[in-house]
Amino acid sequence: MTKSLLDSVMTICLRRGVLFPTAEIYGGLAGFYDFGPVGTRLRNNLINLWRQHFVESQDFVYEISGTTLLPASVFKASGHLDHFTDPSAECSRGHVTRVDQFIEEKLKIPAEGKSNEELAEIVREHKLRCPICGEPLREVRSFGLMFGTSVGGERRQAFLRPETAQNIFLAFRRIQTATRAKLPLGVAQIGKSYRNEISPRQSVVRVREFGQMEIEYFINPDQLNECPLFSELKNVKLPIVTQEVQQEASEKGSTEYSTTLLTVEEVFTQGIVPNQWMASVLGNEMVFIPQLGIPKEAIRFRHMRPEETPHYSGGNFDLEVQLSIGWKEVIGNAYRRDHDLQAHMKGSQKDLSIDVEGTKVIPHVVEPSFGIERLLYCVLEHTYRPKGEKRGWTWFQFPPQMAPFDAVFLPLLKRPEFEEIAYNLYKKCQLQRLAVLYDEKGRIGRRYARADEIGIPSAVTIDHQTLEDKTVTLRSRDTLEQTRHRLREIPRILQKIKQSKGF
Ligand code: ATP
Repeated sequence: MTKSLLDSVMTICLRRGVLFPTAEIYGGLAGFYDFGPVGTRLRNNLINLWRQHFVESQDFVYEISGTTLLPASVFKASGHLDHFTDPSAECSRGHVTRVDQFIEEKLKIPAEGKSNEELAEIVREHKLRCPICGEPLREVRSFGLMFGTSVGGERRQAFLRPETAQNIFLAFRRIQTATRAKLPLGVAQIGKSYRNEISPRQSVVRVREFGQMEIEYFINPDQLNECPLFSELKNVKLPIVTQEVQQEASEKGSTEYSTTLLTVEEVFTQGIVPNQWMASVLGNEMVFIPQLGIPKEAIRFRHMRPEETPHYSGGNFDLEVQLSIGWKEVIGNAYRRDHDLQAHMKGSQKDLSIDVEGTKVIPHVVEPSFGIERLLYCVLEHTYRPKGEKRGWTWFQFPPQMAPFDAVFLPLLKRPEFEEIAYNLYKKCQLQRLAVLYDEKGRIGRRYARADEIGIPSAVTIDHQTLEDKTVTLRSRDTLEQTRHRLREIPRILQKIKQSKGF
């Protein structure tokens, strides 16, 4: 049997220290992964690119960093304690299955958002059996997804946050007062979230501890169609899966959806999205995601069906990426109206409205929510290149800004005259804030392969000619071309490659 793409990607990830199961020597813990040296660099690069694009380059976005453990009262007010559940079905041997996903995969019909009764009916009608042991699946129940604990001597009940957003709503007034910001105000947060997923799987696509990058855009409800990003983004083209397309497919018993290519301006003027803010948020994602090495053709925005949309939402659009395991949600975009601030005003009895020219305003919120690990997996799968005729090993074609290192320095032979020049040049580049690696072990071909395998865009080799004329070879990962350059030009050339899009 040929290896799946997911398995091929994971094989390199394990071997080259990208990521590996947590507590592996004790048999691991399902749904938990650690990032190794290469994976941590990739993860940090992804976070930094996101921060540059969505926070640093906007005048009105501020970043905070909140705790992951929050008191139960927060989740009582937000509704998570009562409603943050997934439908599960148990078999007679006690195996628990995430039943809506199982139905979608097995029967190829949409099941997300259906009630437990509707799911139970499908299970009965199709006589579905446990995917682990084959015993019949029994009644469908709601499975709470939050991890709970108790805090301090007084044992106050608390939960690990299932999304980063709540800290932002809780501190909204403080942030607004401290920054003296007016609306619109964006508050971003990058941090860990925890969900006790029923069936964690597919590597880091579905895990129990994961990173999120979220922004809550607080907007004056009278200015939902006055987004400052709109004019810059209005011509960006968005591949949209409309609700009608999904309805038609569902009537034919299919989950294959066609997309309509519309500009940000068109989705707004045609009323496909609830407001100009949502149109602009989707446009900004369409600009950002391809920069990570995910092709535009593998991206679509799915308008969530009414049964998948929370009652308070004014419209949800998932950015989905096509993977070998199907289309997967990577960013959830929601127009949450004033639901969260209202819920916490009620729960805390504190006024969270702000004063806008003498009037109390409770801002509305548009929220893009990115999953770090899921997005990183998409990058890995889309930049993975199999062995070819010219290259007898697999490699990653990361865009230079995503790559774990900018360059590797290689003395051709393990001799002091080569090593000294190579090491000094490597150190010089390091001082110039380039992320560089020094590798002197093994045959040169093997060292190129090692660098390609973790997607390093450039390799600098110090050889016999270097000793004569102070030039070095620069090997391009993408074209395999080797060009000669003056040694002192190398830091500048590498800086230029780092800033380039690379594709
Ligand atoms: P799903 O339907 O796949 O469970 P969701 O709709 O519950 O996802 P959101 O609550 O919208 O997801 O979370 C926002 C983002 O966080 C998702 O688009 C995804 O990238 C990420 N995410 C959510 N749950 C997980 C998980 N268990 N593992 C990894 N990433 C996750």
